[in-house]
Amino acid sequence: MSRQRIAVLGATGSIGRATLNVVRRHAERFRVAVLTAHRNAAALDRLAQEFEPDFVVLSGEPEPGFTAAWTGEWRVGEESLAEAAAAPGVEIAVNALVGIAGLEATLRALRGGRRLALANKESLVTGGELVLEALHDGGGELIPVDSEHSGIHQCIRGHEAGAVRRLILTASGGPFRETPRDSFERIRPEDALAHPTWSMGAKVTVDSSTLANKALEVIEAHHLFGLAYERIDVVVHPSSIVHSMVEFRDGSTLAQLGDPTMEVPILYALGFPGRLHEDRAGFDPIAASPLLFEELRESDFPMFRLGVEAGRTGGELPIAYNAANEIAVDAFLEGRVGFPSI
Ligand code: NAD
Ligand code: MG
Repeated sequence: MSRQRIAVLGATGSIGRATLNVVRRHAERFRVAVLTAHRNAAALDRLAQEFEPDFVVLSGEPEPGFTAAWTGEWRVGEESLAEAAAAPGVEIAVNALVGIAGLEATLRALRGGRRLALANKESLVTGGELVLEALHDGGGELIPVDSEHSGIHQCIRGHEAGAVRRLILTASGGPFRETPRDSFERIRPEDALAHPTWSMGAKVTVDSSTLANKALEVIEAHHLFGLAYERIDVVVHPSSIVHSMVEFRDGSTLAQLGDPTMEVPILYALGFPGRLHEDRAGFDPIAASPLLFEELRESDFPMFRLGVEAGRTGGELPIAYNAANEIAVDAFLEGRVGFPSI
């Protein structure tokens, strides 16, 4: 079997690096065709030397003083990034970009009939219907990488449409799960960046601390699985072992379990419909006991309710919610506003 050719969009980020770890271990199965980064040209340069892709894309401005050691083809700018998603020869595009900057690449990959391994949830939040139209028209495949949605995808495989009664997404609750609301004023960026169970990029880590991430994921699930918002619930599960659950019409519930590492959903999205073989430890019921679940503190984390309401209302509201969140999170990380201002 010839190796499948992958474009890793956002190769220097958390999901991008995890994807390349998977590719390193499965080099007989996959070959890196394209790598992209936004500003971190030095990291992109090192990856290019290691993986020898067809070309690389730097979508933003490089850091001052950068000179490339890799002598292959460098493309620049946002249009080059979008084109990379469905470049000739690319079979799988992994969208590990952050924010609405990932939407265009999602659309191009699907219109181009590629398999899209989608981590960039903001694509579905802001462009839900457009994304589904691109999937339908282009005949591509959309496999979620977000762990909750990967879990649901795994549980509903093989069931007929209409078999699902309810989806339950789990949320770790973030670093402030037990923090009283009246001390939110004192939260600094480094506190919000210290996630209890997942190691991720800065934006999604802050989103997890405000629970905006879980609202984005409810909207993502609505589009991916075609379920009304009333049928999508969220429950807090601090250890992040159960990633999601699917309740069927007969009252049976399936759950997907595993350690909180993004490499597992990446393995699933790259290997689908098969399973890539790894000698990683599976779920240990004794070590993970007891599995705890609790209600989400909705009144203390208004970004959750606001986001779900934006999703339910539809139209341009999810786009506005997403934009407001991206801007507010940047401002918080740069020390311009406090945590409650998000
Ligand atoms: P990250 O910040 O670590 O990496 C982002 C990547 O995108 C980098 O390669 C960066 O160079 C590039 N990038 C940044 N801004 C860009 C722009 N304006 N235009 C083009 N490229 C740009 O982010 P991450 O944590 O890997 O998250 C990526 C996506 O995956 C997000 O949508 C996030 O919500 C989702 N996700 C991440 C995790 C995780 O564990 N990190 C888990 C689930 C979902
Ligand atoms: Mg998630």
